[in-house]
Amino acid sequence: MTQGHLRGPSFDLSGKVALVTGGNRGIGRAIALGFANAGAAVAILARDPDRNAGVEAELEQIGQPTHADILDVTDRAALALAIASVERALGPIDILVNNAGNADVSGGVLHQSQEGWDNALATHLTATFLLAKAAASSMQQRGRGKIINLASMYSIFGAAALPSYAAAKGAVVQLTKSIAIELAPHGIQVNAIAPGWIATEKTQVARRDPDWSDFNAMLMARTPAGRWGEPEECAGAAVFLASPAADFVTGITLPVDGGYSVF
Ligand code: NDP
Repeated sequence: MTQGHLRGPSFDLSGKVALVTGGNRGIGRAIALGFANAGAAVAILARDPDRNAGVEAELEQIGQPTHADILDVTDRAALALAIASVERALGPIDILVNNAGNADVSGGVLHQSQEGWDNALATHLTATFLLAKAAASSMQQRGRGKIINLASMYSIFGAAALPSYAAAKGAVVQLTKSIAIELAPHGIQVNAIAPGWIATEKTQVARRDPDWSDFNAMLMARTPAGRWGEPEECAGAAVFLASPAADFVTGITLPVDGGYSVF
């Protein structure tokens, strides 16, 4: 047994380079800060330059190397270039988090536009595939790496008002399992996190708008923990999955949902 085993599992990310898409607010920001606090150099990529700069300043305060750039993950041609630009700034990517996302609430199948459908799949599924593909080819050469994809409880359950989102998030879980099998022999672990109801900008209408108070009450009654989750509670799961403590964990979807998906 090695000294490492005697010390127990390591959650240390020192010397690692992490990229978090959509890292400028909500769950992505919490993951980026969690990684920096665990010792990683962190890059964030999202569309809003002011918010990017705000989180970059927070990361700098933690004292790790950082990089922020503008990226729309639906811009396919920009994805590989973005990976290359992060690697020029910070070095080869050890940890990729496919977090960028939004929910098209334009309605169910009778109302949703083709454009809304295409955007949901481009944002959640195609970008996850293309970024994983680009990062994995560099990780493979070094024989190690972690890819973490943001799924959802709607990866499991249907959502009448969000068919494109649920379809894309369901596919993210199958993509995660499939590339986990392929990349495991190369020392790369690929996992997903399925957040439950997390208090972010994305969910603020459901939490705060009086018109949504019945829906909010129903969600809390349906969630065994009886409360909204915090973005930092997803970051804890991400730090675990990104760390050496999870080197034998691959292909899973880890719910962070206060028990919502249990029944
Ligand atoms: P927020 O809306 O708070 O943040 C979304 C982030 O993604 C922002 O940084 C945003 O930055 C970025 N983003 C959105 N679209 C794009 C795009 N096309 N290109 C690049 N960046 C983009 O969402 P959450 O933090 O709540 O959600 C994060 C992830 O977790 C998403 O994948 C979401 O589906 C998933 N999730 C969240 C749940 C929740 O309850 N909050 C539940 C289940 C899953 P910018 O606008 O500047 O580009």
